[in-house]
Amino acid sequence: MNQVTDPERSRRVRVRYAPSPTGIPHIGNIRTALYNFLFAKSQKGQFILRIEDTDQSRFVPESVPKIEESLKVLGLDWDDKHQQSQRLDVYGKNLEILKKKNAVYDDGGAWKFKVEKGKNLKWADVVHGDVEFSRDVIADFVIVKSDKFPTYHFASVVDDHQMQISHVIRGDEWISSTPKHLLLYESFGWGPPTFVHIPPILGESKKKLSKREGAKSVLEYIDEGYLPQALVNFLALLGWSPKGDRELFTLNELVAEFSLDRLNKNSPIFNLEKLNWFNKKYLQKISLPDLMAKIKKISSKAQTLDDQKLTKIIELVRDRMTTISDFEKYAKIFFEKGKEKPPQRQKIENAKAAIESINVWNEKSISNLLDQWIAKNNLQSADFKNTLRLAVFADNTPPIYESLAVLKKEEVLKRIEDALKIP
Ligand code: GLU
Repeated sequence: MNQVTDPERSRRVRVRYAPSPTGIPHIGNIRTALYNFLFAKSQKGQFILRIEDTDQSRFVPESVPKIEESLKVLGLDWDDKHQQSQRLDVYGKNLEILKKKNAVYDDGGAWKFKVEKGKNLKWADVVHGDVEFSRDVIADFVIVKSDKFPTYHFASVVDDHQMQISHVIRGDEWISSTPKHLLLYESFGWGPPTFVHIPPILGESKKKLSKREGAKSVLEYIDEGYLPQALVNFLALLGWSPKGDRELFTLNELVAEFSLDRLNKNSPIFNLEKLNWFNKKYLQKISLPDLMAKIKKISSKAQTLDDQKLTKIIELVRDRMTTISDFEKYAKIFFEKGKEKPPQRQKIENAKAAIESINVWNEKSISNLLDQWIAKNNLQSADFKNTLRLAVFADNTPPIYESLAVLKKEEVLKRIEDALKIP
């Protein structure tokens, strides 16, 4: 029974992410893009990127590539892209239509829309339900400025119509603009799209998310060592709930699960611990070559190692890392010793003799021979391992035998010698 009876429903889904290039979008803006993307793809529809650069005074040119990079890094590829400043002729033509209809008037070189008395303005918002505004509270508003550029309201309505946008999914802060948009649709005689206003992400303080609380850009998070998969998963669940209590979803799995009716009506609270939890999970999931490439990108220490040694270290420390940037913190013991005090001299001498007795230097033989050494000399295993840890690494380590195998035998002996030199 796939028959579609409602003609509206059969309309192809086309949505847009419409950032104003006034700076680098923060993670909350990108969540809006993500929901648009997920909805489009879940409906086999199209996701359009529309750069709303009609406010020349606030235009920051570098923000356009940053917006694009932020989307691309998360895998949110757009099907089509437009830039409003290149569509001035379209707005000009549509202004002429409103002039003919007597719906606008010249106001010192700018064009204002005349708000006539009439019925209340209403729409059925997918998240908020029925929303209603009286026209009386809306003053005449500028739609084309004296610099000939359209205002946001005008350009947005003309474009949403021309680009056949079926659903406008955007932040709650635009609810108060929607009545103006409805006036424009009415005046043109166009049917409005379906509106989906999503509640903003709040900080722990329950106030607007501040930079300190997490309102950074996706690119900053990536630079800090967060994985795109973790950011996508985290953002998707920050305002939308899947069925059941599963939490881990890839982008494709999110596409398969996504539906607008599960968008939350209340604002989610940004929780860095949750993001860290996702990141840890994905650090364990991604392939070793992928992880290695990411580590090499940000760690100068990693760049000095050959791939074989780097692989061994990554295998040992990846479970401890929360972000890629943690690599150096946990790997530093393989580059230099820590600060813990060496054990008793006699214990060090014993550890040295044990290490010297190992001829084949690999993890298996290190482990076999040291276990035999423990048994033969009647030592306490934990104490002996702790001696090795302190004498060689002087810091916390992953399992000690595996950690020893990362270093060359000579390096281990040299570190032990150094421990003996400390009075
Ligand atoms: N350019 C607006 C913004 O910066 C877009 C609002 C909308 O989606 O209609 O958020």
